[in-house]
Amino acid sequence: MSSANATPPVPGDFDKPLDRLIGKASAAGIEKHLGLTTVGELLNYFPRRYLNRGELTAIDKIPVNEDVTILARVLSATKRRMRERKGFITDVVVTDDTGGLSSLKISFFNGHQAERDLRPRVLALFSGKVTVYNGARTLTNPLFELLPDDELAGHEAEFHARPVPVYSATAKLPSWKIQRVVEAVLVIVDFSGLRDPLPAEIVRRGKFMSLEDAYHQIHSPSDPQDWQRARDRFRYQEALVLQTALARRRAQTAAEDATARRGSADGLLAAFDAGLPFTLTPGQQSVGAVLAAELSAQHPMNRLLQGEVGSGKTVVALRAMLQVIDSGGQAALLAPTEVLAAQHHQSIRAILGPLAEGGMLGGADGGTQVTLLTGSMPAAARKRAMLDAAAGTAGIVIGTHALLSDNVQFFDLGLIVVDEQHRFGVEQRDALRVKAHKPPHLLVMTATPIPRTVAMTVFGDLDTSVLRELPAGRAPISTHQVGLAEHPAWVRRIWTRAREEIDAGRQVYVVCPRIGTDDDGDGSEPLSDQSSAPTRDARDTRELAEVTAVVEQLRTEPALAGVRIEALHGRLDTDEKTDTMAAFAAGEVDLLVSTTVIEVGVDVHNATLMVILDADRFGISQLHQLRGRVGRGGLPGTCLLVTSLEAGHPSRRRLDAVAATTDGFILSQEDLKLRREGDILGASQSGGRSTLRLLRVLQHEDIISQARDDAWEIVQKDPQLRENSALEAAIEAYLNPEKEAFLERG
Ligand code: ADP
Ligand code: MG
Repeated sequence: MSSANATPPVPGDFDKPLDRLIGKASAAGIEKHLGLTTVGELLNYFPRRYLNRGELTAIDKIPVNEDVTILARVLSATKRRMRERKGFITDVVVTDDTGGLSSLKISFFNGHQAERDLRPRVLALFSGKVTVYNGARTLTNPLFELLPDDELAGHEAEFHARPVPVYSATAKLPSWKIQRVVEAVLVIVDFSGLRDPLPAEIVRRGKFMSLEDAYHQIHSPSDPQDWQRARDRFRYQEALVLQTALARRRAQTAAEDATARRGSADGLLAAFDAGLPFTLTPGQQSVGAVLAAELSAQHPMNRLLQGEVGSGKTVVALRAMLQVIDSGGQAALLAPTEVLAAQHHQSIRAILGPLAEGGMLGGADGGTQVTLLTGSMPAAARKRAMLDAAAGTAGIVIGTHALLSDNVQFFDLGLIVVDEQHRFGVEQRDALRVKAHKPPHLLVMTATPIPRTVAMTVFGDLDTSVLRELPAGRAPISTHQVGLAEHPAWVRRIWTRAREEIDAGRQVYVVCPRIGTDDDGDGSEPLSDQSSAPTRDARDTRELAEVTAVVEQLRTEPALAGVRIEALHGRLDTDEKTDTMAAFAAGEVDLLVSTTVIEVGVDVHNATLMVILDADRFGISQLHQLRGRVGRGGLPGTCLLVTSLEAGHPSRRRLDAVAATTDGFILSQEDLKLRREGDILGASQSGGRSTLRLLRVLQHEDIISQARDDAWEIVQKDPQLRENSALEAAIEAYLNPEKEAFLERG
């Protein structure tokens, strides 16, 4: 990628195997326990936190059963013989200087050295796992290291201020050993070949420390300001590398040639607008204008449209599709599930009316065809749909991932719309893009509100539009928690409530986390954002609500006598799913028991009540999506979050959050806070080498947006990064090891 005359991107010493700089034994230990093999990898293994000699670890707060490094003062040490065996135990009691109120007992078997070194008042680091034994917390045979302490040794004040770096350690390799190796490397490493990914101008403007200083200060700070400033520079550097990668991609795709689709003054779009039974919201109008302009340009549109559930994204997308058809092109609409694809097919044909019956008797002149193409369609129907796509008779082709398969051809694909799917990664986008002669225009829609910085990070290569207001007449949804642990009798109440709704002519959804009997997954089709769903806890042996069992139970529930009840889940075949959904939409089914297959897009105006069983099994954004299925037809909606977890259980905090607000943007922030933040770019986070290390998308919004602006400016001036080859090298190093994981998001 870099130009021929660029200096080699890799600095000499950083790329060397560790054992060239330090002893074989140390290097082997580092590799075995931390998986780090080069000098650069070790120096990029930053301390997790820093201890101040004056602030001991709060004993009360030490987590149990985790590798911890604690700083504590010895209160007493006593030796006792073991009764059953030969040998002795040294019991050391340590404190955090809060007056001996909170103390921890540390036991050493045959601890000769502990006995010798751990004298009262001594300050030491201990590394090990705290466990609970007979109700008391203890630490057994930890590794330890005495810390010189001015109180005892009369050290200089300067020494006293030196923070103690704490690295993520293991039982065999305590933090202070890592520190010693790093210190040794820092003394001998040659930084001269190291090139700074940050442009000099940015270093000046941001008053960042030099790269070399930053490595020294982050590992071996003299005072807390040192590591803070070093961390600030690495944090910004990380943000800039990531944002430049995204900006470069954005610039590259924007520079490609695309066919301009200007539409026509008296085409399908004009006819559609003239017959629209409602007025577009101001948001729909302004986003519509942006899309119309971008489709008319000779470069591809690459846009993300965010909007609350029910904000009217589909209409916006449909208008863009019609503009493309009016210009002689085709549009593909990609849905995450077959149910949703089928539903789009129905509702788009319905809203287009005669405009969707091109070439058919009674169809409008110049009308088009809307074709469904999914993986599980019968072969003959599928073949016909493929022919229509290839011949161009289908103006709109709606489908699932099956549209990505190699043998689907388009006559002239002008626009790809990806609905409701924020896991639709860069690679899938690319797979579809190659289906057109020139890169098609792209519109990605998501109803899952994403905090701004996450959008910048995950969708940084797309431009973003947001639909903020809901169409007028949208009724509010009220959400209530039903805690069965506190109020077992409320089960009954739920079904009489459902009955009231049905007697008033309305319909009800009941959502379960599982399908039935022998599935061990949730059985739903893979939908949005599984990562926000709680992980199943092995100790969680509760029986979770299953669609099949709940259907049986409700059919015999006295309160629901005579109610028409059906099931919907991912294991039904496509026809069954479509038929059931159609029957529900037509009002022929009163109560639908389903999995999360109805999570996205499903649009039945008459449904007003949603009961989510074992709601604690779902993530915040899933719950929010689910409840968006009710209250869509101008009738107020109600959502009941049913849980059997006791009040105060941590998982109920998600339910509290969902019940407290219907503002998806607030919820997405909550969601991030409750999940361990930072899990944005995927599971590879924990692996730790090249994923976000210092950046936290919630806390560092300022840094991320600054870096985004800077990155855009750099890429505008230097699209190939020829003048910024060190930055380019850093991008490669950052993305490559986990390229897959990175690209799959988005
Ligand atoms: P989204 O895809 O954003 O969840 P939809 O496009 O499915 O939302 O719209 C939800 C419902 O609102 C649909 O029935 C749609 O016809 C209707 N709708 C869309 N825009 C408007 C509007 N401006 N005024 C009234 N109803 C609208
Ligand atoms: Mg929609």
